[in-house]
Amino acid sequence: PKQGEGKGEKKKETKLGLTASKETDFGDWYSQVVVESEMISYYDVSGCYILRPYAFAIWDEIKNWFDAQIKELGVQNAYFPLFITEDVLMTEKEHVEGFAPEVAWVTKSGSSDLERPIAIRPTSETVMYPYYAQWIRSHRDLPLRLNQWTNVVRWEFKHPTPFIRSREFLWQEGHTCFATKEEADAEVYQILDLYRRVYEELLAVPVCKGVKSSKEKFAGALYTTTVEAFIPQNGRGIQAATSHCLGQNFAKMFGIEFETEEKARAHAWQNSWGLTTRSIGVMVMTHGDDRGLVIPPRVAQVQAVVIPIPNSKMGEDATKAMLDRAAAIAAELKAAGVRVTTDTRDNYTPGWKYNYWELRGVPLRIELGPRDMEGGVAMLARRDSGAKETAPWGELAAKVPALLEQIQADMYARARAAFDGCIETAYTWDDFMAALERKHMVLAPWCDEEEAEEEVKKKSATKEAMGAKTLCIPLEQPELKPGTPCFVTGKPAKNFALWGRSY
Ligand code: AMP
Repeated sequence: PKQGEGKGEKKKETKLGLTASKETDFGDWYSQVVVESEMISYYDVSGCYILRPYAFAIWDEIKNWFDAQIKELGVQNAYFPLFITEDVLMTEKEHVEGFAPEVAWVTKSGSSDLERPIAIRPTSETVMYPYYAQWIRSHRDLPLRLNQWTNVVRWEFKHPTPFIRSREFLWQEGHTCFATKEEADAEVYQILDLYRRVYEELLAVPVCKGVKSSKEKFAGALYTTTVEAFIPQNGRGIQAATSHCLGQNFAKMFGIEFETEEKARAHAWQNSWGLTTRSIGVMVMTHGDDRGLVIPPRVAQVQAVVIPIPNSKMGEDATKAMLDRAAAIAAELKAAGVRVTTDTRDNYTPGWKYNYWELRGVPLRIELGPRDMEGGVAMLARRDSGAKETAPWGELAAKVPALLEQIQADMYARARAAFDGCIETAYTWDDFMAALERKHMVLAPWCDEEEAEEEVKKKSATKEAMGAKTLCIPLEQPELKPGTPCFVTGKPAKNFALWGRSY
């Protein structure tokens, strides 16, 4: 870590910065960056983390944007309880089997055993649908489109990672009912595109839209659509958010029936869809560097920090003029809609402050030194690229918002280029394995059979690395020439799947 720049060192400064490197020590780097930047504190229940204000502010941005979008579509928010009785949880067999190993149970109140244990929701299909069955009588009650912003608990066995895989996490879960499959299908893809936009437009994280294989789909769903992200440093794909069409399975189990316009009885078509705090972790992994976080401007709690740099030779008047100018610049930027703060702490050197705001990933630093005061300018330093430029005070209110947009666009473009550079196409097993060993995703033609996926998982596991699986069957497909064989079984390929090692 860099030391503070102040001479005389009258200031009490703690060391700042990361000791682990993103390229060579990714796991340690990630745990350091989320803690040192004050996003996360570890908690004494394994797999649970405290989301500190600096992380929660990003969740708020995601939430505000997505919430407005789904309300525009006609979705309403509601809240259902945390607890599920055993009987209700068991209603949909395939669903229960998928979740059973991860369900946490309440078995006691005080020192006495409960008569029947009560489950804590891992997801709320079974919580909500008995009541949907009561509320929906006629086609006039449809569509029913509800969402809740809440926490869920999944007692995961896999190694927990802050944001990425926690035992309690925050999410939104949408649960909707329609009269027809066509309406349900349309919504699945509308929501999927909103998820893509959360990642690409807010978090500047590229994703691939696709459908999950039957092995990887949500337990009890007809089909699952997904946006998949990728972490180049460790070569792992990550399921970024999922939008499921549940078909009529749950409606049949829970009795969600309605009278059609023709006075017939029919089961509702249902969807469920969820986006979690995992998104913040994917953002950190995508953009961070050895100096800390790099936060895309659109979700940054602080988009620009103004740092006045008085020196000891300046008189009191000149110092005051500098501080006043810093405050005036901040006020103008605030009026221009920029989330800005001014760092006037006098017990830290400028160098220490640079490190501090870099660690926290603030997109733009605005320095104001003695020479800038003479020239009537400020220095703008970009966190993402390190590029610096000066701008006259009078231009800042126009310049800074434009520069923030540019940073957002450049961050996305860089991440997109890296993502695209990590996809290889392979037609044979050997080429497939070679691409995996280069820590890449592989687009490969396959027969779309579960056994093939099982085989790949086993055969691609090495001493160092886990086996690969399908991340998704991308919506955008390369041309599949008739007669192309599956790279695993040699049977005729049905489509190209995107394969990879994954979280
Ligand atoms: P699901 O209800 O299983 O489709 O989960 C919805 C989304 O939650 C998935 O697409 C993942 O992105 C995310 N997710 C799943 N498990 C976890 C976890 N343990 N911690 C954080 N996010 C998760």
